[in-house]
Amino acid sequence: MALSPAVFLDKDGTLLVDIPFNVDPARMVLVERAAYALHALGKLGLPLVVVSNQPGVAYGRFNEEDLQRVKARLETFFGYCGARLAGFYYCPHHPDGVRNDCALTCACRKPKAGLLRKAASELGLALERSWIVGTHLDDVEAGRRAGCTTLLIDKTNAISMQLNSPIRTPHHTVAEIGAAADLIAALDANHTASRVGMVTGAVFDVSDPDFGNAATSRSLGSPSRGTMSLQG
Ligand SMILES: [Zn+2]
Repeated sequence: MALSPAVFLDKDGTLLVDIPFNVDPARMVLVERAAYALHALGKLGLPLVVVSNQPGVAYGRFNEEDLQRVKARLETFFGYCGARLAGFYYCPHHPDGVRNDCALTCACRKPKAGLLRKAASELGLALERSWIVGTHLDDVEAGRRAGCTTLLIDKTNAISMQLNSPIRTPHHTVAEIGAAADLIAALDANHTASRVGMVTGAVFDVSDPDFGNAATSRSLGSPSRGTMSLQG
């Protein structure tokens, strides 16, 4: 099977409001315009893969079971927005950790590219045709190391002022995640039609009863604006 391009998304601060070490699904909240972005990206028919540093595992703040609950909530968010979470890849390591099996210098903690390479290997992705979206230069560097096109979300241009090395310089800078999705859609426009034709059923499953209930029982209006938190 031909390798597919993908969109890699950082989690904390990019998709979700950043609450340090939070693994409580009830406290997970999409950032403003993330619902719009997921809806727009879902329409492209590209695999959407979350890549996240989770040193809280190494620190003993939470465990990998907690992260499975985080993943499940992400899947719900994506589904509500008409998208599908193709993978959730996280780095549980940190050299200063207290958990022996995770207290190490690894090859997957961003800015290294291990998470992206693992996802590419397992999901059949073409890294050189993929994108990564994040709010940190570590996301940019990880993406560049993997050969991806990098989009930095830099609302105030504060990060861009500090750019000083090619590997930590994004290909594109945008003010918010909705603009990142729009840019990817524009850059991908030549390739979208044929691909979406093949995978429409798998990507757009708003008929799923769980998501349908979520969509109709909450007066969130259009997913194109505002923050969103699915309860329960
Ligand atoms: Zn790691």
